[in-house]
Amino acid sequence: MAFTFKGGIHPDDGKRFTAAKQIELLNAPTHVVLPMTMHIGAPCAPLVKVGDHVCLGQKIADTEAPVSAPIHASVSGTVTEIAPKLHPNGSMVQCIVIENDFQDEPDPSIHALDPDTLTTDEMVAAIREAGIVGHGGAAFPTHTKILSALNKIDNILINGAECEPYITSDYRILLEYPWEVVGGAKILLRMFGLNEVKLGVEMNKQDAFPVLKEYLPQDESIKLCPLTTKYPQGAEKQLIYALTGREVPSGKLPADAGCAVFNVDTAAAIYRLFATGMPVIRRIVTVAGSAIANPKNLEVRVGTPIDQLIAACGGFSEPPNKLLMGGPMMGISLVSDEVPVIKGTNAILAFCKNECVTAKNPVCIRCGKCLAACPMRLAPTYIYNYALKRNVAELERYNTLDCIECGACTYVCPGKLPLVQGIRSGKQLVTDERRKRK
Ligand code: SF4
Ligand code: SF4
Repeated sequence: MAFTFKGGIHPDDGKRFTAAKQIELLNAPTHVVLPMTMHIGAPCAPLVKVGDHVCLGQKIADTEAPVSAPIHASVSGTVTEIAPKLHPNGSMVQCIVIENDFQDEPDPSIHALDPDTLTTDEMVAAIREAGIVGHGGAAFPTHTKILSALNKIDNILINGAECEPYITSDYRILLEYPWEVVGGAKILLRMFGLNEVKLGVEMNKQDAFPVLKEYLPQDESIKLCPLTTKYPQGAEKQLIYALTGREVPSGKLPADAGCAVFNVDTAAAIYRLFATGMPVIRRIVTVAGSAIANPKNLEVRVGTPIDQLIAACGGFSEPPNKLLMGGPMMGISLVSDEVPVIKGTNAILAFCKNECVTAKNPVCIRCGKCLAACPMRLAPTYIYNYALKRNVAELERYNTLDCIECGACTYVCPGKLPLVQGIRSGKQLVTDERRKRK
């Protein structure tokens, strides 16, 4: 039996373009551009200056803020610039530019760690020092998530749903690096002192099941759980409901429902840290969409400009109308292909003009499809209308802040209303009002 949640949609998953494409290693670029913000939380400050020689994996930026993650050199070479540059989120962010010397000279402090000889505090500290963040896209610092969940949870969930259309990077990791995912799950088990981890994988990736089973421990401490293929199955709250039957209360975190969720590549990053000592310096990225000549899955250094990923895929087959970092449902629109791959980058998608349909006169025909689709059981059409009227009291009453901005309501709407955009502005109104009240 496959597990799932209430609501959701079944868009064309578009995974056929890259699902069979083995991960290809992209040569390290001549320069990497490393923004001081690659995560949720406080930005880092540079620890190096222009002219410094840096080693592969050397920590080059950090902060004492509790919610943040340090940044490491993804190539060895020379720091040539520290200056504001265009970030994938569209803003200008302080970046460290390193000219690659193509030596990949590792930082002397890097060495493997034996989790069996470390305390939980030491393991969490190692994860922090390695700059590991959520690799599912949100990029929340992993050590912060672990600290907030320690002694509070009884369920560790590994998220292999990868429900966003077109993206197959996690699927390829499950097929090509199953021992890393399982190894990371074992380390998390030890850290939390629990007996069981649930690894949820959507049924459209079921050919990964026998591959994974070869690495699962005999004691059944890691349970492989099939998930119904449905969007947004990989959203944290939907995954928790599917695998445990628990609902995260409104305004609360997964730990309040006794759960901690880690993406499969986050688990793999934890494994790699302990196996090799190497911090986060690379990502596996799906490059796909109708405007990409030859879609691929690429292993790239963090900081690689995305035009180089696109070039490695044969360039654009025609000028794209839309360029995204992340999936078509929840990814962010890019204003340039010169921004770098950051720690949360799991996909670069480019689409042709004819797929980006917008309605001239959007109108609600009161069909109720958005209500049926909403995985958070919200009333998107009401929230949208109250956002237009800037009615904060009603926006609060309709739990607007619970919206996870999954886009399912917009996808099903026959009236072509820009529901998510409207709801997003409603969330901002509520947040601003609450700030004022403090
Ligand atoms: S975007 Fe928000 S309101 Fe729309 S379906 Fe997703 S959670 Fe519901
Ligand atoms: S799906 Fe669109 S048209 Fe149907 S009720 Fe919701 S907003 Fe109105």
